[in-house]
Amino acid sequence: MSYTSARFIRHFGLSSAFAYSTRDIGCLLLTPTKRKFCSASIPIAQKASEELLVVVGGGAAGFFGAIRAKTLAPKLNVVVIEKGKPLSKVKISGGGRCNVTNGHFVDNMILAENYPRGYKEFRGSFFDMHGPVDTMSWFSDHGVDLKVEEDGRVFPVSNSSASVIDCLMSEANRTGVVLQTGKAVRTASADGGKFLLGIGKQTTSSVEYVEANYLLIASGNSSQVGFSLASQLGHSIIDPVPSLFTFKTADSQLAELSGVTFPKVRAKLILENVKRNIQQFTQVGPMLVTHWGLSGPVILRLSAWGARDLFSSGYKGTVTVDFIPDLHIEDVKSILSRHKHQFVKQKVSNAYPPEFGLVKRFWKYILDRQGVSGDALWASIPNNTISSVASLLKHCDFGVTGKGQFKDEFVKAGGVPLSEISLNTMESKLHSDLFFAGEVLNVDGVTGGFNFQNAWSGGYRAGTTIGTRVRDAYLRGLDIQ
Ligand SMILES: Cc1cc2nc3c(=O)[nH]c(=O)nc-3n(C[C@H](O)[C@H](O)[C@H](O)COP(=O)(O)OP(=O)(O)OC[C@H]3O[C@@H](n4cnc5c(N)ncnc54)[C@H](O)[C@@H]3O)c2cc1C
Repeated sequence: MSYTSARFIRHFGLSSAFAYSTRDIGCLLLTPTKRKFCSASIPIAQKASEELLVVVGGGAAGFFGAIRAKTLAPKLNVVVIEKGKPLSKVKISGGGRCNVTNGHFVDNMILAENYPRGYKEFRGSFFDMHGPVDTMSWFSDHGVDLKVEEDGRVFPVSNSSASVIDCLMSEANRTGVVLQTGKAVRTASADGGKFLLGIGKQTTSSVEYVEANYLLIASGNSSQVGFSLASQLGHSIIDPVPSLFTFKTADSQLAELSGVTFPKVRAKLILENVKRNIQQFTQVGPMLVTHWGLSGPVILRLSAWGARDLFSSGYKGTVTVDFIPDLHIEDVKSILSRHKHQFVKQKVSNAYPPEFGLVKRFWKYILDRQGVSGDALWASIPNNTISSVASLLKHCDFGVTGKGQFKDEFVKAGGVPLSEISLNTMESKLHSDLFFAGEVLNVDGVTGGFNFQNAWSGGYRAGTTIGTRVRDAYLRGLDIQ
């Protein structure tokens, strides 16, 4: 039942990016604009003696790992198997702009704090080999001009994820990575130091078998078939649950504020099933009101840090928001009192302190929640009402009733536990020559480019380990001869 890598290359060679003819294994490069035979035609016998790396998944991590391994070990056959369209998440990422990494973090300790799953493990040397600065250099060196936005997010200057996709596709082509699309790796077993892989279309029951010397599982976290490979090879899977989502609230008046943004709030997530004080359950930053509730970076960060606890609490809880985090409550009270004395004859809904930086629609919402008529004159507002308005601005509770829109391909918490791999090499602790990278691992970052950074860093490390191992063995072989 076992196939040699040469037979595999012949059988699967007709890929969308790079193919071998079945007779002489002359290689046919297919690019969007031109097709040409490359001159490095390799005889079958020589090919058969070479080793094969199969990469499961043509996403960010898979492409990066494949390119890196092939660059270090050009004689290694590298095949990426992608069941759907390659780099499909890169395409839709960052609203079609692809936030490739984050340019504000160079210190590993601080960078790691952006990973609700991974923050302990990533405080070490994980990013040393290929961190955010290396990602920026890599893409710049490969023709993708990048820009760092004020909040640290890094995008292609073109504002189009197509620049990133074109770069990765052409680099895979250039180095000689074979891409096979439309088939999934469905079964995997370790067999005498090699991996026996069952590959086939998901719609049919027929499976063809291939033997690989190295296996890199970079199947992301939106596919059960990806996780099942890890299980078949003995790894455990932490059940994936949503991360990075918006909060639904039951407050119909708040829904009327849909579209209102707050540049800076302090928001705290309170869940009944969480008694311990979790520092990351308080976040500071921009917030947005949507027609179903609350969104924006602060809420997304809370959803990520609270992902597991929110799941177990049925997505029910409270978010307490401080709308004026830079002012102490006593200052808020005195500003309101001063305002009252200055604008005695004005309606409270029309005149409110500009220091708070609030929009009128939201000020009216606060008055309504506090039972203050907008038509009342400032002169009529008693001091205790001023105190309670100040308290509400500093401590406004919203009942969370569920999560907002969440699609299966969105970022999740869960996957292969980091404790089951060596982060120095990305190699499985259960099997030599088995590697993992990207979201298939129990790693997820907050928004801002951190999820792709995990994919680039992991893919690069795995590719480096495989490529170096193959190259060193090859050089040792030359020495012997
Ligand atoms: C809408 C959206 C926007 C995002 N925007 C950003 C952003 O701007 N910045 C950022 O940092 N992160 C962003 N992310 C997260 C980012 O896309 C992921 O972290 C990243 O794509 C993970 O890369 P990966 O290679 O691990 O997995 P994936 O990109 O999911 O790739 C895995 C691939 O493996 C394939 N596959 C799975 N199982 C098999 C199998 N058995 N056989 C063959 N193929 C298989 C899948 O089809 C898939 O193509 C976004 C995510 C979403 C959903």
